[in-house]
Amino acid sequence: MEDCIFCKIIKGEIPSKKIYEDDNVYAFYDINPGAPVHFLVIPKEHIESVNSLNEDNAEIVSHIFKTINKLVSELGIDKNGYRIVNNTGKDGGQTVHHMHFHVLGGRSLAWPPG
Ligand code: 5GP
Ligand code: ZN
Repeated sequence: MEDCIFCKIIKGEIPSKKIYEDDNVYAFYDINPGAPVHFLVIPKEHIESVNSLNEDNAEIVSHIFKTINKLVSELGIDKNGYRIVNNTGKDGGQTVHHMHFHVLGGRSLAWPPG
């Protein structure tokens, strides 16, 4: 997707603080962190949102969660806990239309969000 900032981050056209990448996913720190640890995990394939998941592409969600499982351990937030967030569409507050999962940790988080 030409105008997608996350596709540009994957291609290295926009700099990012990368944590991990493999053939299918890319993980990097959020530019505007909402917690001491706040990173995003995205598919390399441009999938607009959870609404765009289907039989052919939904396996990536399992891979994203396995990646989160590994990274939270490496970053040392697995034991105290963390929050995984996906925002979908207008009411969900999605601002970047390339599906992504936020991972927030490093402090106690209020619930529910505002
Ligand atoms: P959303 O609101 O769509 O769920 O989340 C988009 C997230 O992407 C926001 O938390 C925002 O701070 C982050 N973000 C937007 N642009 C950039 C960028 O250029 N670099 C990084 N690292 N994060 C970004
Ligand atoms: Zn994209």
